[in-house]
Amino acid sequence: MTKRKKAIDPAVRVEDLRELIRRYEHAYYVLDQPEVSDSEYDTLFLELRRIEEERPDLVSSDSPTQRVSGEASDQFAKVRHRSPMLSLQNAFDEAEIRAFDKRVRGAVGDKVVYCAELKIDGLAISLTYGKGRLQRAATRGDGTIGEDVTANVRTIRSVPLAVSPAKGLPDVFEVRGEVYFPIAGFERLNREMEAAGKARFVNPRNTAAGSVRQIDPNVTAGRDLQTFMYTLDPGGPARSQWDVLNTLDSMGFRVNKNRRRLDSIDEVIDYHAEWQRRRHELEYEIDGMVVKVDGFAQQLELGFVARSPRWAIAFKYAPEQAETVVEEIACYVGRTGVLTPVAHVKPVIVGGVTIRNVTMHNEAQVNEKGVYVGARVVIHRAGDVIPEIVSVKKPKPGWKMPTRCPVCGGEVVREEPYIAHRCINPFCGAQRLERLRHFAAVMDIEGLGYATLTQLIDRGVVEDPSDLYRMSKDQVIQLEGFADRSAQNLVDRIAASRQPDLWRFLFALGIPQVGEATAQLLAADFSSIDPLRTATEEDLQRVEGIGPNMAGEVHRFFHGQGAELVQKLLAAGVEPQAVEAVGDGPFTGKTFVFTGTLEFISRPDAEALVRKLGGKAVGGVTAKTDYVVAGPGAGSKLEKAQKLKLNILDEEQFKALLPK
Ligand code: NAD
Repeated sequence: MTKRKKAIDPAVRVEDLRELIRRYEHAYYVLDQPEVSDSEYDTLFLELRRIEEERPDLVSSDSPTQRVSGEASDQFAKVRHRSPMLSLQNAFDEAEIRAFDKRVRGAVGDKVVYCAELKIDGLAISLTYGKGRLQRAATRGDGTIGEDVTANVRTIRSVPLAVSPAKGLPDVFEVRGEVYFPIAGFERLNREMEAAGKARFVNPRNTAAGSVRQIDPNVTAGRDLQTFMYTLDPGGPARSQWDVLNTLDSMGFRVNKNRRRLDSIDEVIDYHAEWQRRRHELEYEIDGMVVKVDGFAQQLELGFVARSPRWAIAFKYAPEQAETVVEEIACYVGRTGVLTPVAHVKPVIVGGVTIRNVTMHNEAQVNEKGVYVGARVVIHRAGDVIPEIVSVKKPKPGWKMPTRCPVCGGEVVREEPYIAHRCINPFCGAQRLERLRHFAAVMDIEGLGYATLTQLIDRGVVEDPSDLYRMSKDQVIQLEGFADRSAQNLVDRIAASRQPDLWRFLFALGIPQVGEATAQLLAADFSSIDPLRTATEEDLQRVEGIGPNMAGEVHRFFHGQGAELVQKLLAAGVEPQAVEAVGDGPFTGKTFVFTGTLEFISRPDAEALVRKLGGKAVGGVTAKTDYVVAGPGAGSKLEKAQKLKLNILDEEQFKALLPK
């Protein structure tokens, strides 16, 4: 795709947008081979609609906003629909669905009932019955002229070839609905394609469309397509959309049972949210909910606009996957100097949020996926899950980490056996900031975020964490965003962190490879800071849960750049609290891990109790852990304990172990 600069003149932009949208529609509706993701298309469509709303003079009758998208291909006989097959207006969020409700109530009064149905992500189809027999099946085409696909649709098992018409229906009537590809069948088809060395299909929707629009009906027959019908024209005995669905059901059409009649827009919003959560339970894809004014009398009153009825709206779900382009792969430098590659992508909405950056873990991962600058990638993000690149259109390995740190220009190396690349310059500015931020977060110093730390570094007030304890209130007041009171608060909070638990202090130092659990193991074993500073690698390896790599890192730290830092922190008055010497007792030689919520005793108290009774209380579960005490909400530690078949106790069983 060529890169276009956003034109400032709306008249030019409108033409650009129309040209692009038409091209994408042709690829989507006629070729069944979308060139861009639905969200990219929707974004362009929305932009066009907004400009046209602001500048009605630019609206033209052939604009994609004014007509039903799609066209009938010449490969099929053309069919004129008895009444136009329309598209739907869209609502992308709560505000838009409320605005729809307001428009409806404004037009027909306050007594409105809505019929809410799932929006099946398939292909619209129209079935004409004459004297109870299926006479013709047609695609939507451009809404007026569709394609005759009768031979193909006859092969779909849930389409009745003969029905007994409900009372009140004329000889000839039409049923409309959706043909879709069930997810399981779609995955099966793709496995078969892969086994045959052919390209995979992109998504169930376009594959369903491609399967219906085949020259050879045998191909359609082999694809296991399914249907849900939702329109009856004329309505016969029905007086509402709800009646239509029930009538179709009783005539033997396949009708989706997940539907509801609702009295208020609040209930519609709740029902929509319910299916957003539950959409993965379905054997087919949905892209939203269709909300229709139920009563025919009110539908008639509301009428139509150019391309859609005024009485219905598609209340869309934010897509959880979207395609976009990688514009740059940058590297961020963390507190231990590790370089993390981040793909800057062309902004795209996924799972309801605009994604601009996607973090990858290391060079190996970038190359396993085959990500490169210019690659078209599919991004996935569901709920609160961090976005990730799930696939690359034409993967190409070969991306390389820079050999120089992007922040300080220092040397970047990969030290075996680690997979990560690291900037080894201890004075690297990025590392300094990240180290300070880590220290502040672990030491629970509230209000010492990136912005404040950056200012402190830039003004030369703080170089390493020990400087924080020497910093005066006057120095803080100079910073942007601080006044007398807030400066005093920050200085007080820093002072209050002077006596951390030993494990917290160790974790805050930012020793490579030492996370919270390892810091706890070290603290439990060495009890105070001094023996740790002088421990040999062998001493360190004796601690359970500490392997040779970690022992090497800890040793290097205390004999290298860390030695001076620890000395400076102690000199600045920081006093890591020694772990109470463990006496002999019933728990001597036993290691405990507490996880989840304890109800009768707090976790620190329980750990102190274990120590008093001669045992060790640590943070991480290893094969050598004797007891794991798990309360409600226990997660990965409990799972690990189960895997290792350790002794797992609940709180009552733990209490039973205590001396009476
Ligand atoms: P639409 O899909 O937003 O809504 C209208 C359609 O919803 C109807 O035609 C009908 O087929 C369907 N539908 C499903 N369940 C229904 C139900 N219960 N009741 C009534 N209708 C129901 O509109 P559209 O004009 O068909 O297509 C626009 C969609 O196609 C957009 O989501 C867009 O992202 C996508 N598109 C993508 C590209 C691309 O290049 N990726 C190009 C064109 C269109």
